[in-house]
Amino acid sequence: MRRYSIEDQIEILKSLKMADLHRHFDGSVRPETLWNLSQKYYSAIPGLNYEEFRRYLCYDAEGNGSLIDYLDKFDVPLQYTQFYDNLLQIAFEIAEDAYTDGIRTLELRINPIIHTRAGLTIRQVLHSVRKGIMKFQKEHPDFAAGIVVIALRSHGGNMARILLRQIAGEHHQYHERVGVVGFDIAGAERPYPPILFSGAYRLAAQMGFFKTCHVGEDEGPEKIWEALDCLGPQRLGHAVSAVKDAPLLRRLARDKVLIEICLSSNLQTRAVHSLAEHPLPKFLEAGIPCSLCTDNTTVSSTTLVKEYLLAIETFDLSESDVRKLVAMGQDWSFVRRTGLDYS
Ligand SMILES: [Zn+2]
Repeated sequence: MRRYSIEDQIEILKSLKMADLHRHFDGSVRPETLWNLSQKYYSAIPGLNYEEFRRYLCYDAEGNGSLIDYLDKFDVPLQYTQFYDNLLQIAFEIAEDAYTDGIRTLELRINPIIHTRAGLTIRQVLHSVRKGIMKFQKEHPDFAAGIVVIALRSHGGNMARILLRQIAGEHHQYHERVGVVGFDIAGAERPYPPILFSGAYRLAAQMGFFKTCHVGEDEGPEKIWEALDCLGPQRLGHAVSAVKDAPLLRRLARDKVLIEICLSSNLQTRAVHSLAEHPLPKFLEAGIPCSLCTDNTTVSSTTLVKEYLLAIETFDLSESDVRKLVAMGQDWSFVRRTGLDYS
């Protein structure tokens, strides 16, 4: 693919109807929107001009560079995402940004509980996000989207089950265009192993939600085994440490568990020390389905096109490699539901 100019690469990528299966709501809010909201309500960080504010929202290479430093970036958006209209506007803009980037299938992740501090209910949070996406879809009917609800690891397994019961009515089968398609856990991995959430994932499957799981970003391959055995996910977020364990690679290939690859994010959280060391080529060689994703467009300062350009440059991907990656993202999408079952 590198034989083409960057402009031609971008044009090819945008023609492929890419899917982004891993994008967080609160990490993908436009900086200018947060700036405008901070002028309207109050400034979460007084004394900064717009440029300083924008830099504060993005990952800082001068920081310590851990997963925890990365997660710190999500505090500012939370100041403003407690209100229905703001959530609706942000969801609309995320859909618009994705569409402009050439994405035609977007799965947007959100933990609704953290947006209920001003009194919204969990269902109102999800309703506002659905409404924002649907408003965009009205003008762009070729844009497919779904919501993946995240339970925070730090809230524990019982809260994850309670959350699932509360979102039953937001299931995609009850909604014409956008509903909740999947379930996920996220947050610091170390104190909260996958086994704590086995009951929640059983319930998610019974309720007809697809399952993915952040794992192997900050922890070793043993936690990925645990996630596969206890949670039965169809996809995994990151799973970078799987590369250290050959039998695990064979298991992922055998079970066709797709890995959601987020190159910029993995570099920033130091899940990998350099892009050249990223295990993507080894995963593909082992026969594991993979798709490129953004994780957080604002925090990671990226887009899906940028992630593909990075992969093309770093791993010298051919046009057929790129087409295969895009196709796997489409095939493993919970929104399209081709070739997947809930079990
Ligand atoms: Zn993530």
